Amino acid sequence: MGRLKKSYGQHLLVSKGVLERIASALEIEGKDIVVEIGGGTGNLTRVLLEHPLKRLYVLELDPDMVEKLSHIEDSRLEVIRADASKFDFCSLGEDLKVVGNLPYNVGSLIVENVVFHHRCVSVAVLMLQKEVALKLSGKGSASWLSVFLNTFYETEYVMSVPPRFFVPPPKVDSGVIRCVRKEAPPELDMKRYKGFLTKLFADRRKMLRKKLPEDTLSKAGISPKARVEELSVEDFLRLYNVYEEEI
Ligand code: SAH
Repeated sequence: MGRLKKSYGQHLLVSKGVLERIASALEIEGKDIVVEIGGGTGNLTRVLLEHPLKRLYVLELDPDMVEKLSHIEDSRLEVIRADASKFDFCSLGEDLKVVGNLPYNVGSLIVENVVFHHRCVSVAVLMLQKEVALKLSGKGSASWLSVFLNTFYETEYVMSVPPRFFVPPPKVDSGVIRCVRKEAPPELDMKRYKGFLTKLFADRRKMLRKKLPEDTLSKAGISPKARVEELSVEDFLRLYNVYEEEI
């Protein structure tokens, strides 16, 4: 197999059963355009190609892996050398299904980039570090990114995957989440909304009145003594809309 590179977060998933479950969680149909992130040696790529789909784009950053992937013969497949944390998903279509066993060192950056492109990504099934996967699907304590993701997607924790299913085994457990875009996601200036959330989550133990004017909080019906982790996604949205009106 050659050397796997730690710097690229290369832990190949070798369990056929887990690969199948990830692929089936995407509920692929013949008309679908699927984008795989971090193809590696193609374990998940091959399983995805067993499903009927219109087109499969694989984004991979490591040129050695791109070379390996290019040996998979299938007219529906296109391998693209790209950094998935910066890639413009909308350049590939308008209704994409995104999937991947993400490199954990940049997993959060990739999730952030998917959310930035939610207009073009209707479903995402992603494997991350378990702790991150739990947070993002609303099971752990909230982070700015979990709120950002759950503003636009309904998220669900699919399953945990222990290290022994990977080569080489990572040090931590992994978890798979499924994200389905909301029917009517709010239309927001994404950069401003991100800035608002990161500001509120900085010094998370501080009360909100230290971060926002009290009348902004009261107009949004939120106690000035509340802390950021007590708010729901709906609270954040309401608060953001009041905040935007006032400046
Ligand atoms: N899907 C494969 C490999 C997963 S390992 C499997 O499950 O077996 C993660 C893969 O992501 C590696 O191949 C790594 O080279 C690639 N990668 C790392 N950083 C990336 C980035 N920023 N954008 C796209 N791919 C990346």
